[in-house]
Amino acid sequence: MSANGGHDATICGWAVDPAAGREGAVEAVVRGGVLERLTWLSGSAADGLGPTGRLILPGLVDMHAHFREPGNEDAETVATGLAAAARGGFTAVALMPNTTPALDDPSVLARVRASAAATGSPVRVLAYGAVTAGRKGETLSAMGELADAGVVGFSDDGASVGSATLMRNALAYAGAFGLPIVDHPEDATQTAGAEASEGYVATVLGLRGWPVAAEAGSVARSIAILADVVRDVPGARLHLTHLSTAASIAHVRAAKAAGLPVTCDVTPHHLAFTDEWVAGSRRWAWEALDAEGRARDPWADGALAAPPFDTSLRVNPPLRPAEDAAACRAALRDGTADAIATDHAPHTAVDKHVEFGWAANGISGIETALSTVLAAVAAGEVPLMRAVALLTSGPAAVLGPRAGLRPGLRLGEPADLVVVDADASWAVSAASLRSKGKNTPLLGRAVPGAVRLVLAGGRVAHAEG
Ligand SMILES: [Zn+2]
Repeated sequence: MSANGGHDATICGWAVDPAAGREGAVEAVVRGGVLERLTWLSGSAADGLGPTGRLILPGLVDMHAHFREPGNEDAETVATGLAAAARGGFTAVALMPNTTPALDDPSVLARVRASAAATGSPVRVLAYGAVTAGRKGETLSAMGELADAGVVGFSDDGASVGSATLMRNALAYAGAFGLPIVDHPEDATQTAGAEASEGYVATVLGLRGWPVAAEAGSVARSIAILADVVRDVPGARLHLTHLSTAASIAHVRAAKAAGLPVTCDVTPHHLAFTDEWVAGSRRWAWEALDAEGRARDPWADGALAAPPFDTSLRVNPPLRPAEDAAACRAALRDGTADAIATDHAPHTAVDKHVEFGWAANGISGIETALSTVLAAVAAGEVPLMRAVALLTSGPAAVLGPRAGLRPGLRLGEPADLVVVDADASWAVSAASLRSKGKNTPLLGRAVPGAVRLVLAGGRVAHAEG
């Protein structure tokens, strides 16, 4: 700590800075919270510094998190959510508006901001406004007032904007304000009572199937509406969140090729876990494919290592077969996906200690997101530079200039960075998680990538070891 209250540190490691398009061994010097010097090292000075060791990354951006305040503070508060975010390496989070009451009015945004300010956390809190009043899907929210108050987009997450007419109007209004509609694509008429992705695993387990078409059909519909709206409102933007199926990703890939202003994200769990985890498998998604790229049979492989029906795996959209997870990773590599977003969804034990199909949907994932992505990087599934871009500059670009995020290792500016030991593993446990939500299937498991230091706006957001 220096005289002016900012942090002082000298850190050697492997810097990855997508904003500058550069990675390599560096010595970074932070003085008074400002990134004063970044010396790129070569020769013997760089010995021992590499992409599998200590990493220095721009602060991560999570464009999809649920902190449950107001209304369900037993599951998470803004304070515990921010502590969890910092521990996970995130220096900016965008919160979903499905609180109680919903964030459909500037007064709720003011309340969330006051809670964030009271924590003293340097992690930046952004928020979406609801698309429809009360998230009821009947009439639009006070979108203009919410835009004036500073929301970074609009979403009815937890549900899709079911009415095509409302989606059309929402895209037009939000587009006029330069903000995206962030849609959770799900045709609810196909998913009533659905428990697990429709297919072999759900059939063997006797769980009601959740069809791929429920997501892909909704994606296609919204893209078709966007194509109409954008002719009149060139600023209209559609972001499809937590895509989980090859079919959805194919729709987005085609829409992007056609020049439509559509973006999407993938969660860590949909790229790394599969539906066979519900049966008790715990192998990574890339380990569950055969030589032809088809999902292996976890029963035939003897891959079941945990009890079945772990309700921490109940999530919306559901975990998918390994082929779909592979399509998600292909989307990350080829630019079809713009971001990795956690969909951090903490729940109380009470909401998860029920039969699988009755459990609340969601995984508490903001603290394990970077580790899960680094596991994929270590397996050669996503290049490190691309993975870091998907967690920093990618989501910042989707949110757009009004969010004011500029992730990067910028000289002379307050340091906003994360130091992580990629080769060190840490044990995920209820006690080790800062989130109130302990609902993660990674409990009891050692995962790679221990976050050592997080600086946000020049201040220490998290430090350990
Ligand atoms: Zn959602």
